[in-house]
Amino acid sequence: MLSVNGLNISLDKRERGSDLDFISHAHSDHTSAAKSSKHVLASDQTIQLMKQVYNLDISGVAGNAGLRLLESGHMLGAKQLCMDAPETNERIVYTGDFQMQSSKTTRPIEVVEADCVIMTSVYPDPSVVFEDKMQVGAQMQDWAREKLKGGIVLFSAYAMGKSQELIALLNDAGIRPVVSRKIHGINGVYQKNGVELDYAPAFEADGDFKELINGDFVGVTERRDVEVLAHELSVAYNKNVYTAVATGFAKVFRFRTDAQFGLSDHADFSQSVDYIETAKAKKVVAYGSHCEKFVENLQKEGYNACLFSDYAKPG
Ligand SMILES: [Zn+2]
Repeated sequence: MLSVNGLNISLDKRERGSDLDFISHAHSDHTSAAKSSKHVLASDQTIQLMKQVYNLDISGVAGNAGLRLLESGHMLGAKQLCMDAPETNERIVYTGDFQMQSSKTTRPIEVVEADCVIMTSVYPDPSVVFEDKMQVGAQMQDWAREKLKGGIVLFSAYAMGKSQELIALLNDAGIRPVVSRKIHGINGVYQKNGVELDYAPAFEADGDFKELINGDFVGVTERRDVEVLAHELSVAYNKNVYTAVATGFAKVFRFRTDAQFGLSDHADFSQSVDYIETAKAKKVVAYGSHCEKFVENLQKEGYNACLFSDYAKPG
């Protein structure tokens, strides 16, 4: 927990004794405080997505004069928390999940100068390097167009954030995909917030997916076992089915799909360093999973980095 301006602020997790629970975005590993919190600080879009996906009604949305939300570039509604502490004349920014590259379905990140940055890192290993998103997008579009000539194409992607980015990329290639019920529900929140997505929801009684699936089509699903779904479809339609995943983990693991694309909504290590340089941060506090590795690699590069548990020691 963080103490700023006399407030105990929890960062993306449930903590006893917090005055304010900051929820940076709607991915489930960041929303544990939502259920029991009396004072949530989150963007409107995050609150809409939590209602859509987890059926959570957040009523006590709070703010404070010294606190400001900044775009994090990670997904719809994802924010960083910027805290100005007048008593120490210090600015602290908590990033939550963030990405430095711009995406088709998310507003670009805002990086402000800060004394201290509390930063998460999903990819703390400098050997993991993401390519330019435009390039990855073009590779995916080419692959989908090519495979569509010979059968059905199925993409597996995380339902919230990644699927919408993928649908927008497919739309740019002139492809209108068929999507799962869960992805359709999340798309509705994106569309309500001005993100254009053209797709056909599967399973909808009034949907036009039936016409699409008579030919060769592209499907987007959140199912991890996409090869099982592919087998079912190939039997049902007597067609070739080509599978792919779209995830940053494509740079780390080998998936059992025909293709894998490193489309990430997180920063890699070098992008994290870019952030630190742009913010002119004097101190970096590593937060969340992989934080030991992140501190170690930042220190190797000469940065003043420590673990959150050493930074926010009680007393
Ligand atoms: Zn996330």
